[in-house]
Amino acid sequence: LTKRYDDGTLALEDFDLKIPSGAFFGLLGPNGAGKTTLISAVCNLLRITEGEVLVFGEPHDTMEARSWVGLAEQDINLDRFLTVKETLEYHGGYFGMEKDQAAERAEEMIDAFGLRSKRDVRAPKLSGGQRRRLLLARALMHRPRLVILDEPTAGVDFELRTELWRYIRQLHAEGTSILLTTHYLEEAEVLCEEIALIRGGHLIARDSADGLREHFGVSKLSDVYVKAMAS
Ligand code: ADP
Repeated sequence: LTKRYDDGTLALEDFDLKIPSGAFFGLLGPNGAGKTTLISAVCNLLRITEGEVLVFGEPHDTMEARSWVGLAEQDINLDRFLTVKETLEYHGGYFGMEKDQAAERAEEMIDAFGLRSKRDVRAPKLSGGQRRRLLLARALMHRPRLVILDEPTAGVDFELRTELWRYIRQLHAEGTSILLTTHYLEEAEVLCEEIALIRGGHLIARDSADGLREHFGVSKLSDVYVKAMAS
């Protein structure tokens, strides 16, 4: 996969990565490494320059592939005029769910994410933690097979991070594939079965945290990161 933006920036170059179905997979790399570009390509949010992206074997721009992916973006991009319930229902509708079905699923998500008392409250009146939870609930509304989380815990406090980890782990235990980007080495190590290190639009290494430590001959993942990014 190659992606060159209109201004000439080469964000991904001959990038080749296959993630097994059901995996908990982490993308780790500094700002500008190409993580968001990769995610956007998988979600069909940008035009790719060369190559292809397959989602569970289907081209990424097909209806099927798009319905299989749920994305929780880094920015909290909630519609300020919609209540929690409406946010979820509209998203369901967008993914072709029947009205009744979307309403039922929304109630389920509201309970699963502890938003019952905020059901009819609009986004600006939610706390930071509640917004993050709603973002995740929305990504899960249409029961995606692959959930992509772009720095889900950036800037959140310890308590909320622990809580988000719990939701994500449960999701994975239920068989959902997870693709996570993070700046936090600890987060990648604790959650991910496999980690890909990305730099300058290239894949530098991919392995389990143990495998990476062994490969780079160091005992800490932070040393792996330093070595990989300097090589
Ligand atoms: P990351 O998510 O790892 O921080 P990005 O995928 O956002 O990295 O960025 C990869 C590279 O592509 C960077 O050099 C960034 O400046 C550039 N880039 C990202 N989006 C655009 C865009 N819309 N137009 C031009 N360049 C972009």
